[in-house]
Amino acid sequence: MRLDDDIQNIRGIGEKTAKQFERLGISTVGDLITYYPRTYKKYSEPVSVSEVNEGDRVAVFCKVVTYVEERRGRRYTITSLSASDSTGSIRMVWFNKPYLKSQFHKGEMYIFYGTIKIKGAVRVMEMPEFFTQFNYQKMLSTLQPIYPLKSGITNNSITRAIEQVKDLVLALPDSLPSNVIEEHGLMSRGEAVWWIHFPDDEEGLKSALKRIALDEFLEFLINVRRLKEKTVVESNHHQITEEARVKRDGFIAGLPFSLTEGQKAAVEDITRDMQSDYMMSRLIQGDVGSGKTVVAVIALLMNAISGYQGALMVPTEVLAMQHFEDISKMLKPYKLKVRLLTGSMTAKDKRGVYEELRTGECDVVIGTHAIIQDATEFKDLGLVITDEQHRFGVKQRERLAEKGNTPNVLVMSATPIPRTLAIILYADMDISVIKDMPADRKSIYNCVVGTEYRPSAYKFIRERVSAGEQVYVICPMVEESETVDAENVINYSEDLQEKLGDGVRVSYLHGKMKESEKHQILESFVKKEIDVLVSTTVIEVGINNPNATVMMIENAERFGLAQLHQLRGRVGRGSLQSYCIFINVKKSEESMERLKVLEESNDGFFIASEDLRLRGPGDFFGIRQSGDMNFKVADIYKHADMLRLAQDLSLTIDNI
Ligand code: ADP
Ligand code: MG
Repeated sequence: MRLDDDIQNIRGIGEKTAKQFERLGISTVGDLITYYPRTYKKYSEPVSVSEVNEGDRVAVFCKVVTYVEERRGRRYTITSLSASDSTGSIRMVWFNKPYLKSQFHKGEMYIFYGTIKIKGAVRVMEMPEFFTQFNYQKMLSTLQPIYPLKSGITNNSITRAIEQVKDLVLALPDSLPSNVIEEHGLMSRGEAVWWIHFPDDEEGLKSALKRIALDEFLEFLINVRRLKEKTVVESNHHQITEEARVKRDGFIAGLPFSLTEGQKAAVEDITRDMQSDYMMSRLIQGDVGSGKTVVAVIALLMNAISGYQGALMVPTEVLAMQHFEDISKMLKPYKLKVRLLTGSMTAKDKRGVYEELRTGECDVVIGTHAIIQDATEFKDLGLVITDEQHRFGVKQRERLAEKGNTPNVLVMSATPIPRTLAIILYADMDISVIKDMPADRKSIYNCVVGTEYRPSAYKFIRERVSAGEQVYVICPMVEESETVDAENVINYSEDLQEKLGDGVRVSYLHGKMKESEKHQILESFVKKEIDVLVSTTVIEVGINNPNATVMMIENAERFGLAQLHQLRGRVGRGSLQSYCIFINVKKSEESMERLKVLEESNDGFFIASEDLRLRGPGDFFGIRQSGDMNFKVADIYKHADMLRLAQDLSLTIDNI
């Protein structure tokens, strides 16, 4: 068997199962073995029945003391039995598992594992797992993998399939030289992959993750090195003119605010790059709200004044439309043709923009991935900018650049990566960091509260609205599906409307809405025709409404710290005092501690480092980087040592 073989070659996987695997993105044996667990389950030592409390997830070692009872309802078949140890008894109940009837016999001993419910005076375990003592003992010391699943596929079907190819996994070729493996005490690649699926203990799992992280970093850095070899010494075919520099100063002088020191330095860096003999390849890093957009606009302006076209690519349509409107306004005095290009535009409108790009009539295009589609051709693309860089991949960045004759490249990111790591990850780029926030900003007031605080929160919202300010509410998430999320947003906002009264205009936004509809809502929000916007996390990236001062996040405990920081970044974008209310619905100690970090600090770098510290040993895949750093396992904070090692190795290794 080989890695690129179809998974149907694995014993037990037929056409039907293969189809289901495909829905998880698994079609080859190689896909299968790199489909890593989301997390791991650890079984605990059995406890005595008298010790269990409602809600506990426990194992008990019990004897079956009754015959198995079966009741057939219209929708359910209920199979149940009583089991006890010397301290008490528990009713075990299963739904729609009629075949269990012949499984159990009076007098047999099993370990049952499940969550305890107390019904009247009876302890109940619904749908418990059960094991022989021998099998349970074997599992006790190990971690059970839990895979991300879609309906049709079970956890078991994945582990069984991987077990079938054990020999192949263990014999995976290793591209690291053996002296490196030895010197750093690394696992072999095959061993590491096997351990990730079937770890015997946490120490081993840690080593396995470390090894795979190293491989992922190395692959990434080899690609970056190639990119660097291609770009660093490219000459600049789009040098900006002296006139452009003069217009730049006029533009800055005309802004309603003065630039921060960080913005000024970034603008100087960019100007120098764009004047130089070599093409620009620069990353602008700045926390949410630090004012990166205006820096991008200055670059677009200088480029256009010098007679070249510019493109700004953003990850969502909503953000594209907002940037388009803001930037059109800012560039208006310069008589430049600014156009929007997004996937949801009509074919006719798109054709119009294509035509203007091809003839050179359009100076600046702002849009989504639509910009890098085959149909777009530029007359002379001199500058490409990607906003919210972390949402894109290296490939997309490259494709955008390929639309021109080595255009200057600018990328903008709010991901708080320490400088030492950024230098490695963006080796093909120079970096400007905007450290300071605009002077008029007031630090956001944060509070982490329970659901009982909701009435006070609503009262506060009403007050802010009567003061003419606006509010975002991030609706509780529903895990099942996006459709349910949409319904949920609608219900929540109806409910909220009732609570806030007719004087407050509540509206909602969710991912299932049409792009034009989303845009309309956001436009009304910016125009202050909506007071309170209830939304899913679709508003997370980049949206700007400086008049919004309150962000209330329901189920805050369900989000990662980085995402919460992004969401909070939607307020505090102007001179008004802003507030962020985190509703902690499930007040576990762990979620309290995480949210405390946000309560204490508004600094992205600090939050990222705390996030790392707080991610417990069971929580291996906390926030994963997306886009550019789309690693399955590697974590730039947690595996920083592997990142440095990968950097050394990437100089001598060409392929992984
Ligand atoms: P981000 O870095 O998150 O993309 P934006 O560029 O959207 O931030 O800027 C956020 C808000 O701050 C905008 O309303 C923008 O007009 C404003 N802004 C940008 N720079 C300054 C400044 N130097 N002083 C005051 N306000 C600024
Ligand atoms: Mg932005």
